[in-house]
Amino acid sequence: MNTKSNQDLNTRRVRYFSNAVGCLSTKFIESAQGAILRDVEGREYIDFAGGIGAMNVGHSHPKVVAAIKYQAEKMTHTCLMINPYPPAVELAEKLCKITPGDFEKKVVLVSSGAEAVENAVKIARYYTKRPAIIVFENAYHGRTLLTMSMTSKVKPYKLGFGPFAPEIYRIPFGDVLGPEGLTDFFIKHINPEAVAAVVAEPIQGEGGFITPPANYFQELVKTCHDNGILFVADEIQSGMGRTGKMFAIENWDVEPDIIAVGKSLAAGMPLAAVVGKADIMDSIHPWGLGGTYGGNPICCAAALAVLEIIESEHLVEKAHELGKKLYSRFEQWQKKFDIVGGIRGLGAMLGIEIVKRTSKAPAADETKQLVSFCHDNGLIILSCGTYGNIIRFLLPFVIKDKEIEKGLSILEKGLESI
Ligand code: PMP
Repeated sequence: MNTKSNQDLNTRRVRYFSNAVGCLSTKFIESAQGAILRDVEGREYIDFAGGIGAMNVGHSHPKVVAAIKYQAEKMTHTCLMINPYPPAVELAEKLCKITPGDFEKKVVLVSSGAEAVENAVKIARYYTKRPAIIVFENAYHGRTLLTMSMTSKVKPYKLGFGPFAPEIYRIPFGDVLGPEGLTDFFIKHINPEAVAAVVAEPIQGEGGFITPPANYFQELVKTCHDNGILFVADEIQSGMGRTGKMFAIENWDVEPDIIAVGKSLAAGMPLAAVVGKADIMDSIHPWGLGGTYGGNPICCAAALAVLEIIESEHLVEKAHELGKKLYSRFEQWQKKFDIVGGIRGLGAMLGIEIVKRTSKAPAADETKQLVSFCHDNGLIILSCGTYGNIIRFLLPFVIKDKEIEKGLSILEKGLESI
């Protein structure tokens, strides 16, 4: 069998992978650099998806590659709970420094975003001795039983996978109900004294890049704290500089009790972290949390390189500039194309709504057409949203101007074609 052909590889993929594992593109990538992917047939693609927001520092950044190689040659695994190692300590120290809040913090390292959120909930429940968790409509927190239960969208994430984890309560996000609505929710649905935590994505990712208004989180967190409820920020998609701040919640000047970080933390290596107030994180008995692979040394080495790159290459500022560039183009598209309904997000975490020409209803089929047009024409782009009609932009921050321009012009041709 020819392993260099996309078609042959796809035949084997379909034969050997469970049908449940979705696949957006049938181009098999052999190598990637910065914001460029190259498939097994030598064709190049501009990457506006960044491995679903995991590649903020770009693909195969030389410093990340060097850190991974160095650590792999030294030692690949001992288990953090058996014999700890220097990169994990250094990373925990750095994570405590870069996360918002001028208070003492502590860290738990895990292997995926879902695991980070799941651990945040375990910690909040243990600390408060309360069972309930409040989450939001359009939320996405992962695919484990607990995080799937916390996730909002039924198909594909929840359909047929119940029964779900108990004691999860859901409220509308942003300006629909608002923090005052939470007070009302306490009357109608759950006694606040039974609530351990409110878990929120500062800007909802999979749900459609939904950004709540100014003051939203300040008021929400005040309501939480007035009722002894912890506030957990799920920054797995919105963190690591994506919104033009290191963490998206800083756009609201809020200091969460616990933050979940993942994706771009280790440039695609499987690492995520729970960072929280020291007294909360230390309330749990020894050995209460952990796992075989959490905080793997190669992943920690990659994360340390990522943090160094973000600082030395001023990538948070770059994300802010990148966002401004994209936003002004999207404003032009909004005027030019009836099907571009609105612009969502902050910084370089931006999305455009694709809507029906006259009714302005969400246009999921047209969004799918647009995504496949782009893939066929050399641009990898993703959609998201409860109604599947948001094109989201998760460009690596190191993308070159000419690559941005080329990618946007492919997308613009796609918009003209539907
Ligand atoms: N939370 C958010 C906000 C996410 O965007 C994601 C991934 N899309 C997760 C949690 C789950 O992360 P992972 O896929 O690494 O488990």
